[in-house]
Amino acid sequence: MIQDIGEGVFSNAFSLAPARTGDLLFCYRGDDILVAGDPDAPRLPLYGELTPPCHHIFSLDGSGCYICEEILKAPEGFFYTKAPALARSHPDRKTAFAVITGLQLSRWEQSRRFCGRCGAPTQRSQIERAMICPKCGQIEYPKICPATITAITHQGRLLMARGRNSAPGRYGLIAGFVEIGETFEGTVRREAMEEVGLPLKNIRYFKSQPWGFSDSQMIGFTAELDGDDDTLRIQESELAEAHWFTAEEAPRPANDISIASELIWDFIHKHTKAK
Ligand SMILES: [Zn+2]
Repeated sequence: MIQDIGEGVFSNAFSLAPARTGDLLFCYRGDDILVAGDPDAPRLPLYGELTPPCHHIFSLDGSGCYICEEILKAPEGFFYTKAPALARSHPDRKTAFAVITGLQLSRWEQSRRFCGRCGAPTQRSQIERAMICPKCGQIEYPKICPATITAITHQGRLLMARGRNSAPGRYGLIAGFVEIGETFEGTVRREAMEEVGLPLKNIRYFKSQPWGFSDSQMIGFTAELDGDDDTLRIQESELAEAHWFTAEEAPRPANDISIASELIWDFIHKHTKAK
C-alpha cells in the first residue's frame, strides 16, 4: 500500500523548527506540485535551491518536509505537475506518499484560512497541527474522512463492483464514507445493503490506510453474505455493474498502492488452490 514505506521513515511529529538547507519543499498550486528533473520520476525542490516562506509539515527519512506558504512561479529548471498522478506513478514510494499527504494538508490549510464560525482569519497553532481562530477560539484539525471498504465473499466468490464513473473493466470493492452516528461495522452493513442489497455476517477488521487522494482514512473489512440469496440489487446512482468472481476470474488490481488491491489479492491467495 502507498503508506508502506518502512517503519519510522515517515514522522508526523509536530515541529516549529525553521527549514534548513537540504530540507524538502512541497510547493502546491491547487492540485499541482512543483518539481524538477526527469518528468517520469521528478524530484522535489530542496530548501536552499529555493527559499520561500514555508513551515514544517512532517519528516521523511530524517529530512524535514516544508510546505510553501505562497504559490511560486516555477523558477528555471522547475515545473508543475499533477500531484495525485505523480503519487500514483512515482517509482519512489516515499516520495509518492509524501506528495499525496502534503497535498491533503495543503488542501486543508487552504480551506481553513477563515474561521467557519465567525469568519475571522485563522492562524496556525503553535502547539499542534491545527488552525485556530484568534477571535472566537474555534480549532480546526486536518480533514480526515473515514470510509470503509469491504471484501464481501460467498461460497468462494468475491463481490466486485464498477462505479458509474469508472472505466469498463475497472472493478473495485464496496466502499463508502462513514456517516454521522455510525460505527465502522454499521457503515459496512449500510453500504452493502444500499449498493447491492446484500445482508452481511462475520464482519472482520482487515487493515486501514491513510488515503490522501480523497482526504480519507480507509478502514478495510472482510465480510460474508448472510444467507443464500446472492442476488445483486444494484444501486444505479452509484454502480454501473457488480458481479461475483472466483479467485481465477477476479480482475487483478492495476497497482498495489491501495487497500482495495490488498483485499483483492488476499482473497485470490486464500482461494487459489496450491498446485
Ligand atoms: Zn472564529
